[in-house]
Amino acid sequence: MDIPFLQLNESNRPFRQEMTEAACRVIESGWYLNGPEKDRFERELAEFCHSTSAAVAVSNGLDALRLIFRALIETGRLRCGDEVIVPANTYIASILPVIEMGLKPVAVEPSEKDFNLDPVRIEEALTERTRAVLVVHLYGYPCWDAAIMQRLRDRGLLILEDNAQAIGAIASSEGFNGTAMTGNLGDAAAFSFYPTKNLGALGDAGAVITPHADIRDCVAALANYGSDRRYHNIYRGYNCRMDELQASFLRIKLRHLDAETAARNAIARIYDAAIKNPEVKRPTFFTDRTVVWHQYPIHTARRDELRKYLASRGIGTDIHYAAPPHLQPCMKGVFSEHLPITERLALQEISLPIANISPIQAETIATIINEFK
Ligand SMILES: *Cc1c(COP(=O)(O)O)cnc(C)c1O
Repeated sequence: MDIPFLQLNESNRPFRQEMTEAACRVIESGWYLNGPEKDRFERELAEFCHSTSAAVAVSNGLDALRLIFRALIETGRLRCGDEVIVPANTYIASILPVIEMGLKPVAVEPSEKDFNLDPVRIEEALTERTRAVLVVHLYGYPCWDAAIMQRLRDRGLLILEDNAQAIGAIASSEGFNGTAMTGNLGDAAAFSFYPTKNLGALGDAGAVITPHADIRDCVAALANYGSDRRYHNIYRGYNCRMDELQASFLRIKLRHLDAETAARNAIARIYDAAIKNPEVKRPTFFTDRTVVWHQYPIHTARRDELRKYLASRGIGTDIHYAAPPHLQPCMKGVFSEHLPITERLALQEISLPIANISPIQAETIATIINEFK
């Protein structure tokens, strides 16, 4: 038996016909950038996320975050040297843009329940220079505590979201924009459509959603050389555009995203019911929120042994993430925080196959894990 961790060709096969037609339509149209597919995707993504203002389609998730932080500076909301609270337990792309824009990241430990920024610890990390909090909805778990977020907002802090892993997730309580949908809870959110994400393009793509019209306009201008209209540059901007081909593919897959989430949820439920090995800690199942299971993370003190054992039985796994951002060579001198929970999770995590596997395959994987001694 062979169950690879992830096979993107399998994920995209159901859309092959529709994508081929869309690609032909774009080729024939002669519009390859800044055209109707992007405009439509911006509206459809916003609608999916219950946002009343259109999204800005951009080049990738990292650029989405860079554009957000730069726009917060350009619109006078942030200044060089301001502190931004970030989760210690995240992918490095969440934190790189904070540093690039001259802001100071302050890393906060996760809750062991959902591996996300622990809201209680945010308040302990606040200083006079804290101006923003970046929540990352890691693994598809919404990271949101309405009472604490409201207190932070009352202190004048910006609440930002890295929604690269949680499109379609629903928090247990409403955000500030009249919806509990991740990507529309706070002041601005970044999305990634990297091919392995729940909504994956056939290349790089990303988006920004914000309820603030001035931030939206600024992000859109910055992504297009800083120009607000043709040959008129109000910012020293970038080229961070999403092309028409990717937009046309994403429009097709967005229509099937709810079915994708339901399929991931069904597999997660099978794992949850069937994995019984006492050496393995299963991820928490919540009844008051919708998790979109970007990953199905298990934790064990015998991580490398279990991975090897699974590989010998033909089961592919992955690690998210083998080393946290603060321990990366490029982050020397950036963080002085003591982060033992994050460091332990990084040694114990294994991601099981979750996308495009059958219920029977999930049962089989659980049985094999249960036989691990
Ligand atoms: C994938 C990812 C990013 C970066 O997105 P790209 O499209 O690859 O640039 C940022 N943050 C998180 C949490 C991610 O998972």
